[in-house]
Amino acid sequence: MNVMSESEATFLRQLPSIATVLATAEAALLVERHGRVATTDAIRQAANEARASLRDKPATVPGPSELAASAKVLLEARAPGLRPLFNLTGTVLHTNLGRAVLAEAAIDAAVEAMRHAVALEFDLSSGARGERDDHLRALLRELTGAEDATVVNNNAAAVLLCLNTFALGREAVVSRGELIEIGGAFRMPDIMTRAGAKMIEVGTTNRTHPADYRDALNERSGLVLKVHTSNYRIQGFTAEVGARALAAIANEAGVPLLNDLGSGSLVDLSRYGLAREPTVREAVAEGARLVTFSGDKLLGGPQAGFIVGDRELIAKINRNPLKRALRVDKIRLAAIEATLNLYRDPDRLVERLPTLCFLSRPLADIEAQARRLRAPVAERIGDAFVVEVGDCHSQIGSGALPLDTLSSAALSVRPVGSQRTLENLAAALRALPRPIVGRIGEGALHLDLRCLADVDEDAFLATLAHLARTP
Ligand SMILES: *Cc1c(COP(=O)(O)O)cnc(C)c1O
Repeated sequence: MNVMSESEATFLRQLPSIATVLATAEAALLVERHGRVATTDAIRQAANEARASLRDKPATVPGPSELAASAKVLLEARAPGLRPLFNLTGTVLHTNLGRAVLAEAAIDAAVEAMRHAVALEFDLSSGARGERDDHLRALLRELTGAEDATVVNNNAAAVLLCLNTFALGREAVVSRGELIEIGGAFRMPDIMTRAGAKMIEVGTTNRTHPADYRDALNERSGLVLKVHTSNYRIQGFTAEVGARALAAIANEAGVPLLNDLGSGSLVDLSRYGLAREPTVREAVAEGARLVTFSGDKLLGGPQAGFIVGDRELIAKINRNPLKRALRVDKIRLAAIEATLNLYRDPDRLVERLPTLCFLSRPLADIEAQARRLRAPVAERIGDAFVVEVGDCHSQIGSGALPLDTLSSAALSVRPVGSQRTLENLAAALRALPRPIVGRIGEGALHLDLRCLADVDEDAFLATLAHLARTP
């Protein structure tokens, strides 16, 4: 360490060479963990940064160990973008945080499928070529009551594929009250256009009647759509045609009804203390010839889109070349199959399916956890903040039950004085090795504990211990 005293050029020459830094014990550890190429790059970057800041203002020239330490920070900042985090936002199915957390059975099945060859399109009994959908077909038929089923990349793809199969160059009839936009630029009118369908809007924003559909149906009609208004509700002076009545109208005209349920649930959620959502089985029984729903919303599986319905319609969908472009790989198919299997035993679903476990978690449990964690969290966050146990409302998320919230408990963190702001704290929590993501509101950072499993508490506190206390 030399305090600057000579001319700038001489001074900069005192920076250790890359080779000198690489020769330190600290750098040897980095090489072991990150490899020689990445470590050398990071040391070079650390040296460049030191040089630039010395030019800006004279200071102490860092030695080899200090440059190795800077390189370590740079290397660790390059942690994978998809590393696990703690979702304490209070939104259980958070689209930006990857929606459903998978069941252990699904994780195991996916890992096995990754590690080994599987009978993806191979019939083990005959030794002949099989079909990818065969693995799920029987399960989906059993769980939904539909004649047949297929699966694609996500529900947006499922809707696109149905429209393209039945309404390409034809008309698709939909109520003006159901022209939804889902986050991420899924807009029903745009999807219809891209599918090659001509959108025929009927009714008004708040009221659509049977006659509106009847008047719009003709020999050019390819499909009637019913779309679940997943992320909003129209209230007040309203009228909609229910799925059963609409199925009758569509069938009379010889046009299939597609009911896009969005989230879609395979079980009656009221049995777990949640608000009722129409189940897929009900939608099938109401007479829609095609029903679509997501894999990673209320169902609690990986990203996927299901299409269930009449055998001949599903067969036509499977012959559409777009199906090939939207298909699902073996890893996800394995995880989907394992997730669906859990639904065959609804009594044990809550303990096995994290999404349902989080959604139905008793308030008393979450409050007890908040009281248990308050003091250790306060200690780790430091005395620039106070930490209190507070009430909050979790959301289901991903466009399921948009108006329903779940009473929950949070650790609410408020700054004392003004030396550290909430934004600083939120940023520091996001920068942790396993980031912690909360929600800022009413002058506090709220960490809703609904999605913190009891078994993750120790990991959560250990992560928080990394928090730098400096302002
Ligand atoms: C969420 C949703 C979709 C899109 O489903 P993804 O699985 O996210 O592609 C389509 N329709 C409705 C009604 C939805 O709620």
